[in-house]
Parts: sequence; structure tokens; C-alpha cells
Amino acid sequence: MNETLNDDEAKYLLSYINDVLLPSSKEFMELLTNNQVMLHHAFSFNAILTHAIDYMVFLAKKMGTATRTSYIKEFDEKYNVSGAIHISNKFRLLDAINNSFKHVELDNSQSRYRDLIEKYGELTFHSLKSMNGKVYFEMPTYKFDYGRVVLRPIAIIFDCNLKSTKDIVDFINGDRKGSFCYGSFDTVYEYEPWDAIDRMIDNCNPQCMNCGEYQNCECSSYKYASMKGKSDPDTDPKFAFNDVMSQISGTREWNR
Ligand SMILES: [Zn+2]
Repeated sequence: MNETLNDDEAKYLLSYINDVLLPSSKEFMELLTNNQVMLHHAFSFNAILTHAIDYMVFLAKKMGTATRTSYIKEFDEKYNVSGAIHISNKFRLLDAINNSFKHVELDNSQSRYRDLIEKYGELTFHSLKSMNGKVYFEMPTYKFDYGRVVLRPIAIIFDCNLKSTKDIVDFINGDRKGSFCYGSFDTVYEYEPWDAIDRMIDNCNPQCMNCGEYQNCECSSYKYASMKGKSDPDTDPKFAFNDVMSQISGTREWNR
């Protein structure tokens, strides 16, 4: 790896992430939360994310030997994107959707997308469909909420307080990234009787790691080729119903 990444080039990415991508991400997450996502929001945000990735590829090439295709293929592993376990090629799909948006349809002869086309079918900008404030990726054998399953988890990797050229180098190498912190209950709970009620409430209404929703999760209606989607609750592996229940009744005793 070349440690002497040009400061100006690193600063371009820093500024792009902090001044364009993150504000746009904040806005997109609000639209997601309020079910107000329209097609133009999804395509704009998709383009903003893809541009950041293009620039990361440009810097990665300078730092090493990555080619665009190989680098983007590694993204899903390198950034260990939280949630969205049913789609293992989110970054490539993001890239393909951006490309099909720009070029009317993907060129089938391009080896870069051939396997994606085989998997999903002909990708065009009609592959995304808007319904009830959500934007779905909808193809004959696939259907899922593109905003929640693809854009949301990719956006979060950029939210990791990048400030310096060194941060950018670490980020491009995948050593630093934002995360939803799914599964990190040790930092949330003290595992003492006084937090038993909170733990019970969280366990009864867990967030879905695939789509980020709570009781409104509709992952079970998604289609992934022969697989039906399902909710993927972020529940604490240490949660033991009876123990927590008895701690809750214990708390009541003390409050008398
Ligand atoms: Zn879900």
C-alpha cells in the first residue's frame, strides 16, 4: 500500500463525504423513516453513493493495484455491511442500478454486469418501483425494499467521523467504517436488575437488521429468487426470559 496518498485527493473525498454524502444521507434516512421516499430520491441518493465509491476506487488504484471491478466486488466483504444478509452484492447492485439509470439499460455484453443480469434479469431504471412512500427493487423473481435493504446499509459505512488523510486511507482499506452496531448489547446494557425493564421492552420489539424497521418490518414479504425473505431481529443472545422476568418482579418488590 502506498501511504503517501496525495492530500488534495484525500481531501476531495473527505469533503465529498462530509459536505455532500452525509447531509444527503441524513435527509434520505428521514424520508425512509417517514415512508416518503420517491423514485427521484432513490436514484439521486444512489448516484451520490456511487460517486463516492467511484472516487474510492480511483484512490484505491493509486494506493495499490485494485481494478474497479475487483474493488467493488470486495466491498461487501471489506465493509462487512450490517444487516441485509440476503443480498450479498449490494455494492455491485448499487453500481449497476446507477449505470442502468444513466444508460437506459445495461449493456449485456459488458462482463462487468453479466452475472448480475443473469441473477436479476435485464436491469433498467424500471427495476426500481415506487409504492406507498417506499422504493422497491422489483424484478420477476426478486422484490425487496431497495431503500432499506441496499441504500440504508451502504450509507451507514460512510458515517464514521472521517477527518484526515490517514482516516481516508484507513477507510479505503476497510479498516474503518460506520456501523449500525447490531448485536453490541454489552455497550447498551449493564445487565443489572435496574435495566431489566428496558431489556424486556427491547426484546419484545427488536429492530430488524435487514430493513431497520421494528413492528413494521415487511421482510417476510420480500422475494430473493427461491428464498422468501424473513425478519432478522437484532436480539440480545444473552437475553433469558425467565431471569429478566424475575428481575422485573424483583424491581417491583423494591419499589413497594
Ligand atoms: Zn425487516
